[in-house]
Amino acid sequence: MSDTIAAAATAPGRGGIAIVRLSGPATPHIAIGLLGKLPPARVATAATFRASGSTDGPGDSIDSGLALYFPAPHSYTGEHVLELHGHGGPVLVEALIARLLQLGARRAQPGEFTQRAYLNGKLDLAQAEAVADLIDAASSAAARAALRSLSGEFSDRVLALSEALAELRVQVEAGIDFADEAIDLLSDQSLQARLTEASGQLQALRAASRQGRLLTEGMTVVIAGRPNAGKSSVLNRLAGHDAAIVTSTPGTTRDLLRERILIDGMPVHVLDTAGLRHAVDAIEAEGIRRARAAMALADRILFVIDAAADPQAAGYLEQQALLPAGVPVTLVFNKIDLASSAAPAPGAACGTGVVSVRLSALTGEGFDALATHLKACMGFEPDASGALSARARHLEALARVDACLAEAARLLAAHDAPELVAEELKRAQQALGDVVGTHSSDELLGLIFARFCIGK
Ligand code: GDP
Repeated sequence: MSDTIAAAATAPGRGGIAIVRLSGPATPHIAIGLLGKLPPARVATAATFRASGSTDGPGDSIDSGLALYFPAPHSYTGEHVLELHGHGGPVLVEALIARLLQLGARRAQPGEFTQRAYLNGKLDLAQAEAVADLIDAASSAAARAALRSLSGEFSDRVLALSEALAELRVQVEAGIDFADEAIDLLSDQSLQARLTEASGQLQALRAASRQGRLLTEGMTVVIAGRPNAGKSSVLNRLAGHDAAIVTSTPGTTRDLLRERILIDGMPVHVLDTAGLRHAVDAIEAEGIRRARAAMALADRILFVIDAAADPQAAGYLEQQALLPAGVPVTLVFNKIDLASSAAPAPGAACGTGVVSVRLSALTGEGFDALATHLKACMGFEPDASGALSARARHLEALARVDACLAEAARLLAAHDAPELVAEELKRAQQALGDVVGTHSSDELLGLIFARFCIGK
């Protein structure tokens, strides 16, 4: 890594203080150019940020503030790092960065500081991803899960499992070298027991990561129903259930409205079916195609029905064909305050496997049951204290490990070739290596760090 990068580490906009960060080999040289001298290591030092190399006359300085110098390798990135704490105005920040560029730095890409920390062995890949999860955390539970992963709890458990598998491999491979005794080796009870123990560790890790993933990524639901069935009211009440903030952000296409609510800390991304009407032009047709594709990936459809006006759920039957196939449906009978107390009769045509919930967005009745139902659909346990923030790619890797261990156990039980058992254990170890980034491709690293904000 030969160049030196600079970026604002604080959010854009006005604030009390803004921090600009510099990392790389030219940091001491640039610091002298900017401050006149290199500040002592790890001591907050009052300094003037100079606009040019000349004297410190008025007009010659950009700002004044604190300078903090962290010589390599004892810094966030593992390189020489300089932090400049100045006044929090966007013009000042930009002027300061421009001066750093003039002195030889270049602008950092998103996530580049953390990427350098990873490349310099300060963090493993799972920890680096936890940095982004911590910044993006939408609830305190998600932040706690990210902090646990950042502190290395997730990686430590992955590595411990990897070590256990390495020992098993040694035992199996030793058997291969002494082929005559291989049969005895594979019938060895201790080998079976250790494999079972490793599987147990893996299951616990998968459960903790699944909870963590739910905290960061949550579930996606499609909300559908006739106009006036009460879709918005149900959403607002559901969001209010946990005193959560309702945000409405424009979707990726003009037809895809997305909202995000929180249920007991689990983010629920809501897609509206407004985009599923008949297209009038090519652009709209593309919007509809995208809306459909997003909906096909949803975890559940909430189909809201006005229980008073449509007790037979005719609205569902009429729109059923428009809904993404294969996504499970929950019929939400709303407005039960207006409906007769008779149980809903959605009719056989709704099909088996369609769950229904009765509630009133006006009175709030039935919402506990809906929230419990949604959490249960995802296996979310808000009280699970050991959640570890994890990404889809981690869960996929752990699923691969599981498949390898199951195959190894089967081969072992069948007294099959020890080479094959060893091979499965090796593949399981490689999948664990993918989680912490032992051997990661540039492409994967690019994808992971591009999702960071600039300055992190
Ligand atoms: P949307 O078009 O499906 O989003 O429906 P809205 O949420 O805008 O609701 C349509 C109308 O029904 C509004 O006047 C709401 O106040 C009313 N409404 C929604 N839920 C209930 C409910 O549970 N009970 C009663 N009585 N009215 C409701």
